[in-house]
Amino acid sequence: MGIKRGEVGRARRLIEESESVAVLSHQNPDGDAFGSALGLGLMLRRAGLKVKVSWPDQIEPPQKYEFLPGKELLISHANLRPRGLVIAVDCANASRLGELEDAMLEANSIINIDHHPDNSMFGTVKLVDVDASATAEILYKEAGDLGLEMDRDIAVCLYTGLVTDTGRFQFSNTSAETFRIASELVELGADPNRLYEEIFQGDTLSYMRLTGELVSRAVFEPETGLVYVFMPQEELRRFGVEMNETEDLIDSLRTLREHRIAALFKEQDDGRIRVSLRSRADTDIGTVARSLGGGGHRAAAGYTSDKGSFEEALQELKGEIVAPRRDSGS
Ligand code: 5GP
Ligand code: MN
Repeated sequence: MGIKRGEVGRARRLIEESESVAVLSHQNPDGDAFGSALGLGLMLRRAGLKVKVSWPDQIEPPQKYEFLPGKELLISHANLRPRGLVIAVDCANASRLGELEDAMLEANSIINIDHHPDNSMFGTVKLVDVDASATAEILYKEAGDLGLEMDRDIAVCLYTGLVTDTGRFQFSNTSAETFRIASELVELGADPNRLYEEIFQGDTLSYMRLTGELVSRAVFEPETGLVYVFMPQEELRRFGVEMNETEDLIDSLRTLREHRIAALFKEQDDGRIRVSLRSRADTDIGTVARSLGGGGHRAAAGYTSDKGSFEEALQELKGEIVAPRRDSGS
């Protein structure tokens, strides 16, 4: 399902008619959220708009994203009163904006730019393409028709969105188009090796040690193919790691031979348990996350459990996971 050209024209007119704009992204922002929000923010500033970028979390990106250009556009959500135009990037629905949801819904016009299959199609104008590997990919493809220009800094932001959401161009959402766009971003000045060093060689020793601890405790169930581990708050404090540094922790469970689903249970500071889910290509984990009140893609999804303890949350998840068929020959 592609983006309707009429919607792109409407978005362009909204941008051209605006003097200022707030670009917002989702809770627990990831590389695509950071890269898309800052990349779009910089494009809009080039076009002469007054731009603010925010998300419903602490506004300083984790250390490994500190290299991203455009940080001067960031404003804490507590200080943001968006009125005129709001653009939400990488948000499947309005509630992904957490404390910014009400503020966004009060804005005059909302442009919704996203690639999640469960996008609720909120907003005045929708640029939603579920076949895009990342929101950054949509921004790259539509920039020209939106009247926006690229430069090196913008290419760095969009490449960051692309390389993180595709798992370094290896997940099932990676297409020939993704590589074509990556190639053009590299021509614009995004340096793959430098960005690899910034993003994927940016771990602190504390984070590496926490990863080691969690991997050493991981449990694998051959019957269901589930590999999982629980990370209590106390452990974050003990290792000296911030929650916003743990976005990629789940990837350490995904290299396991014969696993089908990886689950990382993270205790939040309010005691609730956030569950990150990943699956291999033939297993749809997005449906599981949706049935538990969350959402996401086929192979990468998440939700916050209503259960009060890890054990209950684990049972709840197992109840939603359908065991793989053993009679594949029939
Ligand atoms: P992560 O595990 O990295 O937090 O999230 C993986 C994917 O699932 C992301 O694409 C994210 O947008 C989506 N996701 C995670 N948690 C939620 C949630 O609570 N609601 C919805 N709608 N999507 C989620
Ligand atoms: Mn994304």
